[in-house]
Amino acid sequence: MTDAYDDPFERYSYKSDLIERLRAVDGPMAFGRVTVRAAHSFGFCWGVDRAVAMVQDAIAEHPGRPLWLLDQIIHNPRVNADFKRQGVRFIRGPFADHACADEPGEGDVVVIPAFSATVEDTARLRSAGCTIVDTTCPWVIKPHKRTLKYVDDGFTTMIHGLVLHEETRASCSLIASRGGHYIVVADHEQADWVCAFLRGELDAETLVARLPEGALSADFDPTRDLVRVGTINQTTMLASETREIEAKVRDAMAVTYGEEAMNGHFRELNTICRATQDNQDSVALLVEQDQLDLLVVVGGYDSSNTRNLTRVGGGRFPSFHVDGPGAIGDVAIRHRCAETGEFVETMDWLPAGEIVVGFTAGASTPDTLLGETIVRVLEVAGAPLDVLAGR
Ligand code: SF4
Repeated sequence: MTDAYDDPFERYSYKSDLIERLRAVDGPMAFGRVTVRAAHSFGFCWGVDRAVAMVQDAIAEHPGRPLWLLDQIIHNPRVNADFKRQGVRFIRGPFADHACADEPGEGDVVVIPAFSATVEDTARLRSAGCTIVDTTCPWVIKPHKRTLKYVDDGFTTMIHGLVLHEETRASCSLIASRGGHYIVVADHEQADWVCAFLRGELDAETLVARLPEGALSADFDPTRDLVRVGTINQTTMLASETREIEAKVRDAMAVTYGEEAMNGHFRELNTICRATQDNQDSVALLVEQDQLDLLVVVGGYDSSNTRNLTRVGGGRFPSFHVDGPGAIGDVAIRHRCAETGEFVETMDWLPAGEIVVGFTAGASTPDTLLGETIVRVLEVAGAPLDVLAGR
């Protein structure tokens, strides 16, 4: 695909001088007693940067025309709030004006986020006469294409993803619109239930009852619909978890159908996007090098890829998922636990003396926000203020 935003090395929005310096150095930077080690790859991915720039262009190109976002453009509150301040309205989601019943109509401009949209939403907007600006990331289109192949070949699509995530909802909608079936598994526990059914250790009714609402296509019958399974994943899941889940589902099917027959029963495709993979690999490298005292992961709390970056640390050292500098007090840090999803306040989180703090940021985190968070950590650590110039 080529368009006005097809240069992956050019950054279009939310640039930060401090982050540009970190990228240029691509190694440790000392700020007083704190050494900052940024992951090699972090922050705004090409798809997000492109989507944000496309909204900015749409605002400039359609002055005076009502401009809507279907939902959050990306999972970062600051970016969405910035657009709202510029007059962009949200059809749904946390930034929608729920007291107002207005809907986009003839001639209004509606932006479809990078996650894509359901078939039903797109059809409704078209029939209302809206001008659609589709920022769907090409990496999201890849699993879409694969699901259609699965449907054509009579395979049920198993999605490693989150039922409520916009990207997964769009994939499910596409599959259903073509008469196919899907099952969404979010984690190992849910995959284990599926495997137990496949091995004959769990009955169909129990499996259906255990999975969350929305995880199964209409009239899903495990006995009929788990005979041929093809996998994809939400592009922002933890890659290692996807591989483990695929392996265990494949093994469970081999118990029933035999290894030699697996080609007719199981297919897999890793649809983790390059940016997610690169960001995860970069954190894994920091962890392997084992030189950090702690890791700070910056990103929206409903950002799947940010949460998964925090999980890559695997408990080797304290890891804190924060949504920005506001989460960091002088003695306490408020963060989201990547495993439980609960918000936690940790006191005295910044060790005394010389420390190495690792930083990374989710694909939907603006560089400006990461830069401000690093500055806040340096301030709390008592780093000399002159080294903060050019943040
Ligand atoms: S995280 Fe990946 S799939 Fe999502 S917008 Fe970025 S590049 Fe595209």
